[in-house]
Amino acid sequence: MTVLAPTRPRPTPELIAKYDGRAPRYTSYPTAVQFTPQVQEDTYRTWLEALPAGDAVSLYVHVPFCSRLCWYCGCNTRAVNRHEPIGEYVRYLLREMGMLEAALPTKLGASALHFGGGTPNMLAIEELDAIVAELRRMFDFEDGAEIAAELDPASLTRDWVLAAGRNGLNRASLGVQTLDPKVQEAVNR
Ligand code: SF4
Repeated sequence: MTVLAPTRPRPTPELIAKYDGRAPRYTSYPTAVQFTPQVQEDTYRTWLEALPAGDAVSLYVHVPFCSRLCWYCGCNTRAVNRHEPIGEYVRYLLREMGMLEAALPTKLGASALHFGGGTPNMLAIEELDAIVAELRRMFDFEDGAEIAAELDPASLTRDWVLAAGRNGLNRASLGVQTLDPKVQEAVNR
C-alpha cells in the first residue's frame, strides 16, 4: 500500500497577482453587487408579483449575530454579548415577513428554507419557533422541504438542537476551516 502525501499548490507570484482583487462572494443569488441604488422597493415588488403561483420558492433568513467574530469572516454579522439586539432584530424580521406576505400575489409553496448568518443558533428557542411558525403559516411547505441552518458548535445547545428538530430542520451546516487548535486560536474560533 502506498500512502501519498497531499500535494499543496504553492502560491506563485503570478497566482497571487491574478487573485489579489475584489470579487463578489457567490453565497447568494442575486449577489450583493446586483443590489445597486437602481433596485428600489418597486423593483422588489415587481419581482415578487412576477413569481409563478405554481412554483415553490426557496426562503432565506439571515441572522447577523455571533458570540464572537472569527478574524477571517466576511459575513454580514456582528458580535453581541447580550440578547436584546437579537430580540429587536427578530421583532423587525417578523414585521418584514408581514410586509412580504402583503406584497405576495398569492400563497406560494416553499421547497427550502435556510437560516444563515452569522449564527442562527443565537436565536432564542421561542424566536426560532415564532419565525418557523410564521413562515409555515405564510407558505405551503412541500413534504420533504429542506430546512437548514448554519450552526456554531461552540454556542450550540442540546435544547436548541431539539427545538430545531421539532421545527422540522433537517440539515445542518458547520463551517470547519481547520481542526488545528493553534490555527483555531489564531483565527479566534
Ligand atoms: S461564527 Fe461564522 S459568521 Fe460568525 S464570525 Fe465566525 S465565521 Fe463569521
